[in-house]
Amino acid sequence: MSELIQQVAVVGAGTMGNGIVQTFAASGSSVLMIDTAPAALKRGLAAIDKSLGRMVNKERISADDASAIRGRIQSATDMSAIGSEELVVEAVVERSDVKAEIFAALDEMCVPAAILATNTSSISITSIASHTARPEQVIGMHFMNPVPIMKLVEVIRGHQTSDQTTARIMACSEAIGKVPVEANDYPGFVSNRVLMPMINEAIFCLMEGVATREGIDTVMKLGMAHPMGPLALADLIGLDVCLDICEVLHKGLGDSKYRPCPLLRRMVAAGQLGRKSGQGFYEYS
Ligand code: NAD
Repeated sequence: MSELIQQVAVVGAGTMGNGIVQTFAASGSSVLMIDTAPAALKRGLAAIDKSLGRMVNKERISADDASAIRGRIQSATDMSAIGSEELVVEAVVERSDVKAEIFAALDEMCVPAAILATNTSSISITSIASHTARPEQVIGMHFMNPVPIMKLVEVIRGHQTSDQTTARIMACSEAIGKVPVEANDYPGFVSNRVLMPMINEAIFCLMEGVATREGIDTVMKLGMAHPMGPLALADLIGLDVCLDICEVLHKGLGDSKYRPCPLLRRMVAAGQLGRKSGQGFYEYS
């Protein structure tokens, strides 16, 4: 079963939010992109334009397709712009307090049938759902970065997520060209429980002088056939996001093997967040 959801809202226009907006719009949904920061909305729309422009240049879509996709996207700085959307995907910062506030507000303003999904990398879906009166309609829809390219959507069921909600989100993920995989609500789910300890360990290797940044990344690329080294990948994800996820794993699973590397903490404190700040393990202009 493949079932496109026609009207979608995405809250958060950052690295992930704008990619999610583009992906839904490219599949034919009308999408409302919301971000409280006008500058973030502007950057989000510019990122979509750039990505669509690249696809036109590579002749993967026509210029007419690109303008039709763009025509299906609207933007707003306030969630009160939400109307009869059947699905809202939240992609704001990885902080439980911010997500709690947003889900409580969404529960008030969305139509009763609406499914509320979160793109969280690691926060408990059950705890996010507890801030709503519709926990059976709250689910994790964990896209990968960059969203328009990566095929996987990890679909995470909270404790009370219904079979109906899960089936709808699995079908809708397929309708937007993704491959959904169902997971249960444990810290980091599958993807980050496996990925983040590897990235964290690569940062320990760098801090302890085991090898250079290029050396570490080359070992994992050529030795393990990873398309990207773990340090370059951390820069792509955002070092603040990586730190947040490590903290959730450490706290949620209670094992010291998940402790965030001190160098990761220091770089985040210094504002070196990877690609989005221009400086991470590598430099970006
Ligand atoms: P980001 O920092 O790039 O973007 C977050 C956006 O949320 C910002 O534009 C900010 O202005 C906006 N925002 C903050 N508070 C808001 C509010 N109250 N209402 C509306 N907008 C608000 O973050 P990101 O990397 O896009 O991550 C977003 C979510 O996706 C996080 O939960 C993260 O864990 C998850 N995620 C990230 C990645 C990744 O590779 N970066 C991958 C998968 C999942």
